[in-house]
Amino acid sequence: MKKILQDLSFTETEELILSLGEKKFRAKQLFEGLTQGKAISEITSLSKDFKARLTEIYEDKPVRIKKTFFSSDGTEKYLFELADGNLIEGVLMKYKYGFTQCVSTQVGCRMGCKFCASTLNGLVRNLTAGEILSQILVVNALHKKDAAGLGGEARAVTNVVLMGSGEPLDNYENTVKFLKNVTASEGLNISARNISLSTCGIVPKMYELAEENVPLNLTVSLHATDDGTRARTMPIAKAYKIDEILKACEYYFEKTGRRYYFEYTLIEGENCDDEHAEALVKLLKGKPCHVNLIRLNEVKERNLKALGDKAAYRFLGKLEKGGLSATLRRQIGVDIGGACGQLRANYLEKEKDYVMEFYKK
Ligand code: SAH
Repeated sequence: MKKILQDLSFTETEELILSLGEKKFRAKQLFEGLTQGKAISEITSLSKDFKARLTEIYEDKPVRIKKTFFSSDGTEKYLFELADGNLIEGVLMKYKYGFTQCVSTQVGCRMGCKFCASTLNGLVRNLTAGEILSQILVVNALHKKDAAGLGGEARAVTNVVLMGSGEPLDNYENTVKFLKNVTASEGLNISARNISLSTCGIVPKMYELAEENVPLNLTVSLHATDDGTRARTMPIAKAYKIDEILKACEYYFEKTGRRYYFEYTLIEGENCDDEHAEALVKLLKGKPCHVNLIRLNEVKERNLKALGDKAAYRFLGKLEKGGLSATLRRQIGVDIGGACGQLRANYLEKEKDYVMEFYKK
C-alpha cells in the first residue's frame, strides 16, 4: 500500500516538499488542495510532473465514496472504499446550525459488543489519521454548495463524532493524530468542542487523552449500571470496572473543564427496568455529565430486542426526575440501514451472496 499524504500536518507537508527539492510555497498549494478534498491529481496549481512524482509514493485519493444512501429525513449514509479495497461507513446528519459527520476509526472492531454489527467479523485493520480525515474531506467536497449557505465557508461539516465503526481508543495514535490535524488552524479548523469521541471505556487511554490538549466531548458507552450486567454485552467490562471509568471521566473533567457523556442503549429485559433507572441515578447523580439514551438498532445476527417507545420515555422520565441531565436520542436514518457496521455487514453479505450465485452458475 502507498503512503497517505493526508496523514501529515501542515508542517510535515512543508518538510516533505523541501525534502523533494521543491519550493516551500508548493506545500501550501498541496495542503490547501487536499484540505478541499481533492485527489493529488486534481490539484491544478501543481505541475503534472510533480503530481506524478507524488502519486508514485502517495495514494492519489485514499478514501472514495462507493455508495450513498439517502434517508427521507435528509440523513446520508456513505459506504467508503479505501485504497486497499476495504470498506468503512459514515453518516452525515444535517442540522440547521451545520452538518455532523460520524466517522469510522477502524475497519471492523475487536471489542466484541454483543449488540454491535461492526464487530461481527472482528478487526481487519486500523485506519490511519489521514484515512479518518479523508472521510470528512470527501463529504465536504460533495457538499460544497450546501456550505455556501452556511456563511459562505467551504466547510459543510461543522461537527464530528467518532462513533462509526471501530474503537477510537484501540487505535489511539492514529486517532489523536487525526484529532490534532482536524482541529489545526491550517486545516479544517474544527473546534474540539464540536468533536465527540465515543469509547467503550479503555480506561488508561482515557487518562492519556486528557493530556492531549484536545478538549473534546468524551463519551463512554455505559449500557449498564453494574459490572456483571455490563459484561454480558460488553467484553471490555471484564478489563475495566464502571468505578474506574467514572474516575477517568472525573479526571477528564478536571483536566479539560468539559463535562462528559454516557451512552446507554436500551435493551429490553437487560438494562432498562425501573430498578436500572434508579441505579443509574444513584451512579451519576451530581456528576458533570449527560446521559444519551439510545434505542437499540436490532442487528439480525444478534438476539437482542429494542425497548418500546413508551417504556423508553418512562425510563427517560425516571432519570430526569432523579435529577440527571438526559435525552433520548432521536432516531435518524433508520430507513437506510441503522447502526454502526450494519451497512458494511449488509454489503459484505450481499457480495457473498453474489459470489455464491456466481459459483452456482
Ligand atoms: N467503539 C465506540 C464507538 C461505537 S459506536 C464505543 O464503543 O463507544 C457509538 C455507539 O453506538 C456506542 O455507544 C455503541 O455501543 C452504540 N451501538 C452500537 N451498535 C448499536 C446498536 N445496534 N444499537 C444501538 N446502539 C449501538
